[in-house]
Amino acid sequence: MADIEVPVVIVGGSLVGLSAAMLLGQHGVRSLAVEYHRGTAIHPRAAHATQRTMEIFRAVGLEERIRKRSAEQFVQNGGVVAVDTLVGGVTRQFIADLNAGIRDVSPCERVFLSQSALEPLLSERALELGASLRFATEVIGAEEGRDGVTAELRARDTGETSRVHAQYLIAADGAHSRIRQRLGIPMQGHPTFSKSITIYFRADLRALLSEQSWAVVYVDNAQLRGFFRFEKPFDRAFLVVNTAGDAMHPVRDVSTALSPERALEYVYTALGTRDIPVAIDNVMHWEAAAEVAGRLQTSRVLIAGDAAHVMPPTGGFGGNTGVQDAHNLAWKLARVLDGRASAALLSTYEDERRPVATLSVEQAYTRYVLRTDPSLGKDRVQPLVGDLDIELGYRYRSTAIIPEPDDNGSVHLNPRESRGLPGTRAPHLWLTRHGKTISTLDLYDRHFVLLAGAKAHEWYDLGVAAAAVRERALEVYRPGREGLEDPGGQLGPAYGIEPDGCVLVRPDGFVAWRAASAERASAQTLSEVLARASFESIRTGAG
Ligand SMILES: Cc1cc2nc3c(=O)[nH]c(=O)nc-3n(C[C@H](O)[C@H](O)[C@H](O)COP(=O)(O)OP(=O)(O)OC[C@H]3O[C@@H](n4cnc5c(N)ncnc54)[C@H](O)[C@@H]3O)c2cc1C
Repeated sequence: MADIEVPVVIVGGSLVGLSAAMLLGQHGVRSLAVEYHRGTAIHPRAAHATQRTMEIFRAVGLEERIRKRSAEQFVQNGGVVAVDTLVGGVTRQFIADLNAGIRDVSPCERVFLSQSALEPLLSERALELGASLRFATEVIGAEEGRDGVTAELRARDTGETSRVHAQYLIAADGAHSRIRQRLGIPMQGHPTFSKSITIYFRADLRALLSEQSWAVVYVDNAQLRGFFRFEKPFDRAFLVVNTAGDAMHPVRDVSTALSPERALEYVYTALGTRDIPVAIDNVMHWEAAAEVAGRLQTSRVLIAGDAAHVMPPTGGFGGNTGVQDAHNLAWKLARVLDGRASAALLSTYEDERRPVATLSVEQAYTRYVLRTDPSLGKDRVQPLVGDLDIELGYRYRSTAIIPEPDDNGSVHLNPRESRGLPGTRAPHLWLTRHGKTISTLDLYDRHFVLLAGAKAHEWYDLGVAAAAVRERALEVYRPGREGLEDPGGQLGPAYGIEPDGCVLVRPDGFVAWRAASAERASAQTLSEVLARASFESIRTGAG
């Protein structure tokens, strides 16, 4: 008999575990996140939140809190550049201004906010939404049975053990995931290619940085390769060192036997001056690898975040990919748990997320080789894919997505060209609702949405009838109804439909199906599509 019963237990309460707890809460699902550490992250690590991640945080009511905190911590819209040394100035520019030229594709902007500052906001919101968090507690075992998972917990301070029984377990226990290892699931891809370090240091860098708008500065010189990340007010920073010595024959293990003197030397070398006093606070040792787990799930265990995929920080994709795993899972778990969907819906998690995680991993690796360690072989990497494709243009394929005949099989495309293709993120477009400007994305948070074109009377009426027999399952919108307006008349072009067409958007904001026009409008078509996209397990009597 377990001491605690909870629908979902989450192993790991860092960036992805907390996101999962929060997003499950958004869908009304109670969860317990168990974290070994005594509190949220103390190291800054991830900072770059993509537009997609910010869209997810917007839907859960966190966007403003994150932007406010980011403005306190980082130069806004900071660039990503490379230097020989910091004193020596810029040698290459990867991103001049974090948000230049991309504001049209999303209601949200890219933001820098350190994981150590973000996690308290995530945990606060998770608690507001009904999640339970247990810090200073280790999951020491987990057993999967026919009716769920039983996890064994040990409180670090008292040694007291307890058991939690849950329907599902999310393994968000990081790169060395014991849950994944116990399941015997191997990692595949590029194993460790650097034993890296992150050096946290204090130094008065105001004279060097106050005129600059840089957030991430890659360092590439004859002594070392890595990157700096700078926070306001430029009196502290971190330097990552990935390789040292000659760039074409580098030392890839800068971690083993690192002395405090050597760490200090790395900082002086990257700064390019010894005139600024430097004090080292801490050094973190970690391994850079680019790998994806061979499987992301069993019937009761779902693997997310670094436990499912690891990648070098080049590009800033790692944490974002993990948050998106949690987002893909949350609505599916909610529907399976309350009986609206059959458990088979969950199997689409791996089908949808694994190819997309592989894209992020390979693209982070490509960026690492091009920016940091060309000796790994520039001709042995996947061609560079644009940031926007990776951040917003990733595409899902699974039995829950109803494909169109001209699907070319690509895992990504430019979000400006996706135009409502099934499996892609539903495009952002400004609309008004009762006179207030909203994004189309604001319509998608917890339910399936049938978004009908301005003249799609048939689809709209069919949708309203289908919604009436699917309590809490479907919302229906059409410009001209219920206060919704499309002032620019852009809905059709943005979503690739005629004015009498419609799209079905999932609770995670991805298009499940699209009807270009009213040609096939019937209750049966809609009923079949809804059943397929949501793995509906209730009898609705519709159709
Ligand atoms: C220098 C650096 C910079 C980075 N920059 C970016 C960036 O800009 N953008 C980005 O998206 N990503 C970035 N990343 C990657 C990002 O930090 C990771 O992808 C992210 O932390 C993964 O989160 P996670 O929750 O999956 O795993 P983790 O953060 O590793 O958390 C796993 C948690 O599980 C806990 N745990 C493990 N086992 C147990 C157990 N048995 N019981 C209880 N608790 C357990 C651990 O204590 C840990 O807190 C960066 C990484 C580094 C190193």
